[in-house]
Parts: sequence; C-alpha cells; structure tokens
Amino acid sequence: MDLIPANPLNRLNFSGGPGVLPESVLQQVQEAIIAVPGVGLSILGISHRSDWFAAVVAELEANILSLMGLDTNYRVLFLQGGATQQFSMLPMSLLAGAERPADYLHTGYWSGKALPEARRVGPVRVAWSGESCGFAQLPGDAELDLQPDAPYLHYVSNETVEGLQFHRVLGGDRVPRICDMSSDFLSAPGDFKRFSLIYAHAQKNIGPAGVTVVVHRKDLFAAAPDNLPGFLDYRAQGAAHSILNTPPVFAIYVVLLISRWLRDEIGGLAAMDRINRRKAELLYGALDDSDGFYHGRAASGDRSLMNVAFNLPTPALEHEFVSAALAAGFSGLAGHRSIGGIRASLYNGLQLPAVEQLAGFMADFSAAHR
Ligand SMILES: *Cc1c(COP(=O)(O)O)cnc(C)c1O
Repeated sequence: MDLIPANPLNRLNFSGGPGVLPESVLQQVQEAIIAVPGVGLSILGISHRSDWFAAVVAELEANILSLMGLDTNYRVLFLQGGATQQFSMLPMSLLAGAERPADYLHTGYWSGKALPEARRVGPVRVAWSGESCGFAQLPGDAELDLQPDAPYLHYVSNETVEGLQFHRVLGGDRVPRICDMSSDFLSAPGDFKRFSLIYAHAQKNIGPAGVTVVVHRKDLFAAAPDNLPGFLDYRAQGAAHSILNTPPVFAIYVVLLISRWLRDEIGGLAAMDRINRRKAELLYGALDDSDGFYHGRAASGDRSLMNVAFNLPTPALEHEFVSAALAAGFSGLAGHRSIGGIRASLYNGLQLPAVEQLAGFMADFSAAHR
C-alpha cells in the first residue's frame, strides 16, 4: 500500500495535549484506517465483539503490566470520559459514605480540578496546597500533612500546566496511593507496585484522545458500594475486560501500537526515560544559559521532564516568540490558557532532534531580542 510520506511539521509539535505521536506509529495507523494487516477491515469498522479485538485488549493489558513491571495482582482497564471522569468515578467507589476524609494534594491546575469533584461525593482534606506560592514548587515530605487512616491519598505526578513533576513516590504504604499520571504515564520506570490505582488518559503520552488507562490493585474495590451505575463501577468494567459497552476501538488500537513501539523500537521504559531526560536537559539548559531571558516557572528540583513552562521578559515578547516559532515550523508552544507564558511539551513521541532545533531557535531569538 502507498503511504503518504510523514509530515515534517509533526516532528516539531510541542503540543501540551493531544501530544505528538511517533511517525512509525502514525504510518501504521494510516494503513489501519484502510485495512488492519491480517484482518482486511478498516480499524474504524471492526466489531468490538470480534475475537480480533478481544485479542487486542488482552495483548494491551499484558503489555502495560509488563512495561510497568506489575504482576496479575493488578488489573488494566480502558475507560472513557477522560481523566476528568476519574476525578468522580474514583471517589464514587472509595469515598461515598466515608467517615474520614481522603487526603488530596493541590499542586496545580489539574489536581485543583480533581478536588471539587471528590468533595461532591465525600469528605476531603487538602494535605498540602501550592496556591500561596503560585504553584511554582512542590512540597517536601516534611510539609505533607498526611493522615494515617485516610481512605486514600490522591495526587498528580506531573502537573502538566505548571510543569511540575514529583521525582519520588509520596505517602506511607498503609494508605492506598492513587495517582493521576495522565501527562507522564509510561515515560519512565517507577515503583508502580506502591500504587493502588494509577490513571492516565492516552492523549498526552501514549495515544489519541478517547481512552483512559486505569491500572489498579484487584483488591481495591472489595468494599465499593453496590448501587453504582454499571458503567462507573470498576468491578463491572474489569469483569467485562473493558468491553462492557462499545469501547473506543480505534483509540485502544493506537495505544496497543504505542505499547509495541515502546517495547520493540524504544526498548522499554528505562530506555524511554534516558531519551526523555536528554530532551529535558537540553531545553532546561537553554533556559539556564539565557542569562534570565527565559525564566523557568518551576523550582529547579521540581522541574517536569515532560512539560517545560517558562516566561520571557514581557507578555508582548512571549506573543512574538510564539508567532516567530510558528513561522519557523514549531507548533503548540503557547502556555495553557489559564497561566499564559510558553510551554514546550516533550512527550514520548517527540524526538531529540526537534528539541535541538527548538533550543537553537531559542538562542537565536534571545540574541535578537535581549
Ligand atoms: C490533561 C490532563 C487532565 C484532563 O484530562 P481529560 O482527559 O481532558 O479529562 C487531567 N489530569 C492531568 C494530569 C492532565 O494533564
């Protein structure tokens, strides 16, 4: 089959999400839109009740557990409603009717979105808030006011908007640890066994919008209420292997291709991490070597390897930076609408040469405008 050549602009896509996907995967997706190899049908028209799709789900469940180093004490689900639905679905199972509050960290934009949703369902305590420091840094362990008997601890591993990332696992091992990893999922190895539940939508690091991966300990929902809507009950979704109703077949298939790419082309999460670190070092180096022209938002110890958020001396210069970058082929560099500034997202699918090019562009821009 003749494939359209890769689009060079994709290589310079620094979008915060949906994020850039690897070209080799896009080529396979393009082929699958017409006919999935070995099946002959378009991926957009294959029944979710087919044996083929059951095998896709089974392979992807296994690939994710294997990449994360988890055993079959964990279940993998492919759900809809984005990470936002998890903000509600989780407390509906673990917090409804609770006497003690769950501990939530408020470290930035996205953890702030999870809070009011949990409060609608049950009691919540904010165990640390970065509001007074303008979400420019994350807490040290001694600053966390965690309760030993909380129903669970919820935090966001990588604050996508502010560019803040925890480089350690938080909390004690007696309280179930729940983490929104939407923007750094499968970007690096981790001690994932210490988490009771991890959720991540696909569209930042591992696929297109439309599917959210949930990885949870099988015993986590033993005491969940019996009157949940079936669609919002993790146990029902698990028993159906994520095919309770029509799932997003296309999005799940793309995540499968990404999981194979991570394993076979990249060589696993440790290899992915080495690449991601080189990208981040290069870009933070461009900030640090600019004599203050580019000012990073995040405290240096909390810098995200995925989202590099920074400011220029004035908003007018930031505006000019984004336009000039666009004219030079770079896209997705405007900061999140809630805080402005510039944000370069360095998700798994973005390659090192793109970051080298951006660093070069930044050096030229600062030399011309300082
Ligand atoms: C983007 C993002 C979300 C929002 O996800 P939706 O799929 O749009 O609901 C939630 N959490 C984090 C950490 C994010 O980066």
